[in-house]
Amino acid sequence: MHPNNFDFDWDNWLWQLRSSLKSRTDFEKWFTLTPEEKIIFSQDKSEFNIRSTPYYSALATDHPEDPIRKILMPHALEFDDGNQSLEDPLNEKNNNPTSRIIHRYPDRVLFLITDMCSVYCRYCTRKYFTGHEQNLLKKDELNNGLKYIKSHPEIREVILSGGDPLTLSTEKLSQILFEIRKIDHVEIIRIGTRMPVVCPMRVDLDLVKELKKYKPVFLMTHFNHPRELSLEAANALELFVDNGIPTFNQMVLLNGVNNHAVIVKALSRRLLYLRVKPYYMFQCDPSRGTDHLRTTIEDSEQIQRELWGKLSGLALPQLSIDIPNGGGKVGLTPNFEVSRNESGRSYQGWDQITAEYINPNPKNILKPIDIDTYSNEI
Ligand code: SF4
Repeated sequence: MHPNNFDFDWDNWLWQLRSSLKSRTDFEKWFTLTPEEKIIFSQDKSEFNIRSTPYYSALATDHPEDPIRKILMPHALEFDDGNQSLEDPLNEKNNNPTSRIIHRYPDRVLFLITDMCSVYCRYCTRKYFTGHEQNLLKKDELNNGLKYIKSHPEIREVILSGGDPLTLSTEKLSQILFEIRKIDHVEIIRIGTRMPVVCPMRVDLDLVKELKKYKPVFLMTHFNHPRELSLEAANALELFVDNGIPTFNQMVLLNGVNNHAVIVKALSRRLLYLRVKPYYMFQCDPSRGTDHLRTTIEDSEQIQRELWGKLSGLALPQLSIDIPNGGGKVGLTPNFEVSRNESGRSYQGWDQITAEYINPNPKNILKPIDIDTYSNEI
């Protein structure tokens, strides 16, 4: 439903940000609010900021069960803590050596360069930081972040995150990339963004040309539903890939949104066709206000099992769960083993064929690699 009283500049991303829906009045121009949605708008302040671009709102229908509406529209159930409700599910605040850096894994860091997004996804994992829209990156925060990265030669990857890094101007983003590229030991830069999903008009040749200057830069997008892959979104993805920017997708399994193998299959196949690798399929983190959007682990595993063998390895995202309280990611792979003995193991595959894999005869196993002798050649 399009309200018709806008000063229209639809293809301009800054217009999309300026014209974002934020208040009950804004949302009522687009949607017939349900009683549960009205409850949250009647509170002084929702637990988590509310915002959506007109573009993303236009992808949703007025049906209360619409999957995209469930991602952007707040619901009274956000006040229900459910079974697990954590302010900081990944325990990032305890791995935060300087205000904008999260250093959880040895060889990579997250650099939170903005707290702003153009849509506040109701399932967001970083609600403690995202959406306050007052945390503009200050000069000393940028410098402290860069200083930290410089002083840790073990850091090989820097992941720009937030908030959404692509809500920054191309000029600002380019300045940050320029500074990071001056650090010799940083090999890979990743940018985590939902802008191609919620505001694809952000992606233009200027942006892509800037990113190309600082290669290798990897783009991590975040499509959750095949309906998000509009023509505009597909064009944005094509621009990245055609310009040599490897692009991967991380989705989150969400109750009532995409927790069905048919939906994941359609999303993954379309992404792959657009040359975007479906990378992770995350279990939704138990951040505050998300209990109604989370799937059970069993539900998620069942989806992964149904996809196994029916999607090519290139199209199959890896189901993964972030252990609450900062335990890191673990992959949830279906267990196909049916038995094991001293010589090997038996498996039953996706189409019920069972066979045993027998280990090589110990007498034929050559001596182990002497890694110290050959380490210079690796
Ligand atoms: S775009 Fe990412 S950081 Fe922003 S609200 Fe959505 S999930 Fe959270």
